[in-house]
Amino acid sequence: MTYDPTNIFAKILKGELPCHKVYDDDTALVMMDIFPQSKGHTLIIPKAPSRNLLDADPGDLAAVMPLVQRVARALKTVTNADGLRFAQYNEAPAGQTVFHLHFHLIPAYEGIAPGA
Ligand code: 5GP
Repeated sequence: MTYDPTNIFAKILKGELPCHKVYDDDTALVMMDIFPQSKGHTLIIPKAPSRNLLDADPGDLAAVMPLVQRVARALKTVTNADGLRFAQYNEAPAGQTVFHLHFHLIPAYEGIAPGA
């Protein structure tokens, strides 16, 4: 499968579509998910154009993972969540709906079922 540069996250990265941005640097854009699975559901969108984990450049992955950890730590603190899910899907049968690599950080709360 190839990378389609017209995907919705590519348009957000180019500033052609709006988003609720929480952080932006040379490696990635961090934004709130438009359909959050829990309070604080955050997406990290690496700027390098890859479809998903399977075609990503290892160097690009290495560059973005420290940011993923920083955002995870900050998000758990600011949401006061009891836990945090880290998710990433590859291809439609696995649940991928936007075909530009991204990472989900989904706060989890005691007594609240995932997705509720
Ligand atoms: P996937 O299923 O591909 O791993 O996740 C795509 C995620 O992107 C979903 O959680 C969906 O709610 C979110 N999403 C889809 N379109 C938009 C959008 O235009 N803006 C934002 N902020 N999130 C989006």
